[in-house]
Amino acid sequence: MSTVTATQAAYVVAALLFILSLAGLSQHRTSRSGVVWGIAGMVIALAATIGLASKSITATGLVLIVVATAVGAGIGLWRARVVEMTGMPELIAIMHSLVGLAATFVGWNGYLDVDAELSGSLLGIHHAEVFIGVFIGAVTFTGSVIAYLKLSARIASRPLTLPGKHVLNIGALVAFAGLTVAFVARPNMGLLIAVTVIALALGAHLVASIGGGDMPVVVSMLNSYSGWAAAASGFLLSNNLLIVTGALVGSSGAYLSYIMCKAMNRSFISVIAGGFGTPAAAADEGEQGEHREISAEETAELLRDASSVIITPGYGMAVAQAQYPVAELARKLRERGVEVRFGIHPVAGRLPGHMNVLLAEANVPYDIVLEMDEINDDFAATSVVLVIGANDTVNPAATENPASPIAGMPVLHVWEAADVVVFKRSMAAGYAGVQNPLFFRENSQMLFGDAKQRVEDILRALDSLDAPVREMAGSSR
Ligand code: NDP
Repeated sequence: MSTVTATQAAYVVAALLFILSLAGLSQHRTSRSGVVWGIAGMVIALAATIGLASKSITATGLVLIVVATAVGAGIGLWRARVVEMTGMPELIAIMHSLVGLAATFVGWNGYLDVDAELSGSLLGIHHAEVFIGVFIGAVTFTGSVIAYLKLSARIASRPLTLPGKHVLNIGALVAFAGLTVAFVARPNMGLLIAVTVIALALGAHLVASIGGGDMPVVVSMLNSYSGWAAAASGFLLSNNLLIVTGALVGSSGAYLSYIMCKAMNRSFISVIAGGFGTPAAAADEGEQGEHREISAEETAELLRDASSVIITPGYGMAVAQAQYPVAELARKLRERGVEVRFGIHPVAGRLPGHMNVLLAEANVPYDIVLEMDEINDDFAATSVVLVIGANDTVNPAATENPASPIAGMPVLHVWEAADVVVFKRSMAAGYAGVQNPLFFRENSQMLFGDAKQRVEDILRALDSLDAPVREMAGSSR
């Protein structure tokens, strides 16, 4: 078998493994095996590509590939080992930026090093691929860098609202279309530089214009863009596996963006167009009345007397790493006969499925972890809701204030319960930068402090509430 045939066969196997990986990653139970399929596919893909390249490059070139692979793998292993769960979205965003940058370089390389055998319409197609690849790659690169800066709180999550921002975006797209036609007719470096600059500016502007509440969609959308950028590189490099893999990432990212938009009641087109049609976000409107505080001991008493409890975790639970004491609290309350369930908002935390992963890690049974739509009607009949480090996802302004930047986003109706205890460290706003009227409701009380410490305080308080009962039981024997 020739090297080329063997490589193509290996590519088919790798592509099948990537499809198996995606299927595995779609469910908690199979997600670990999904990751293993993905690793296996990538190892085969890399080995086959290096094997193919080794036939046509010099020994120095081969050494450079091996060194680059070793350095890249080293950095990847190190980052994956040290990253906190709360830092995953930033890591993903910065990885997308690298895919975008690579696609831009591949595009430029395609312009500088044209295959001498190409002529006529094939040459035209090649130049169109170069131009489109550079455009998608550059948009993905700067868009992902801005997403990284926003997600890591290095810049404010508020949307940038330049005057005529939609005209700027549409103008950039029209310019891209016009320049593509001109480039295919007369390829030259000036046009390629122009499209690179326009795409870099457009990527930065599109993501900077999107408000904090819509960032989940942006992350999955950039995931999709990075896939299309990789597919574009695949066409330029005539690499079938890169085309297949790019299309898998591009289409699954696009579908995830669509699901997230539906979950958040946002228009898909509006978000990918940089917040087209969404109201300009108001800044944090400040406090909206008096809030009441509650202690861990008082919360323990409230829980002792409750018949049903719903726990709604958010980003703060991830920051505090409070999932273990929270799982312990759920177990203790269930032992006492209290009905305990978890209500999970689709964009709670900073990653799709973030809360589900944390709760699974702490061995919370799957059957008491319910999605927002499954539990939203049950809050009214619930004794106590514990809001653990959640904010935007439990904000009633989304349903009650049409002028709010998060208006229309479905939220957990926690305020309908008899009592609500909100665990957070201050009165600060959530990720979207919007103040939360829930904190000032009659039935809400704030339990300030680090969520993990406060839940541990409650566990201790519950034990001491039980102590006299145990002592009485012991003395009556
Ligand atoms: P938010 O980000 O709205 O709020 C989290 C709250 O946790 C903060 O108000 C903070 O208040 C509190 N907190 C932080 N650290 C601690 C701690 N150690 N102990 C106790 N509380 C703490 O969280 P939600 O999960 O409700 O909402 C997620 C937001 O993130 C949404 O706006 C969503 O759109 C966005 N997003 C989601 C992504 C996803 O894919 N899921 C991706 C990108 C963005 P304080 O500082 O006072 O403690």
